[in-house]
Amino acid sequence: MNETLISGGTFFGYPFMTFVPIVSGFGPRADPFHPGQIENHNGVDMGGVPGTPALAMISGKCSASAFDPDLNGNYVRIDSDDGIWQIGYAHFERCNVAFGEYVNKGHIVGFVGSTGHSTAPHLHLTIRKNGQAIDPAPILNALKGL
Ligand SMILES: [Zn+2]
Repeated sequence: MNETLISGGTFFGYPFMTFVPIVSGFGPRADPFHPGQIENHNGVDMGGVPGTPALAMISGKCSASAFDPDLNGNYVRIDSDDGIWQIGYAHFERCNVAFGEYVNKGHIVGFVGSTGHSTAPHLHLTIRKNGQAIDPAPILNALKGL
């Protein structure tokens, strides 16, 4: 896997040890829970093998590690040192970092599951830049060398 300098000294790493496909992209899509309705997907869905370790894409402080039964299930958020970037992981089988813990890029932050508002095991991955969700796909593709 490559390592890419994206912004202001923040290095990004791929969130899995091996390639995992994006199964649902960023932006408007058919709402899986409300047929006929459109939802704005604020991240990408990756993979589907339960128990697959997911990795910290950046080094930083864990700003959330909690259970939200209605939406994100077991979820984790990691904030970059400069406060610009936030990586979010949702629907974990279980989290592997604690709130307030500092994690290095590549650290296992949780294991793929289907907790919360989810139809099947997957990782819902969000990347926020200055608080705004951006499409993770270009960053993920760059990290894979695509
Ligand atoms: Zn999703």
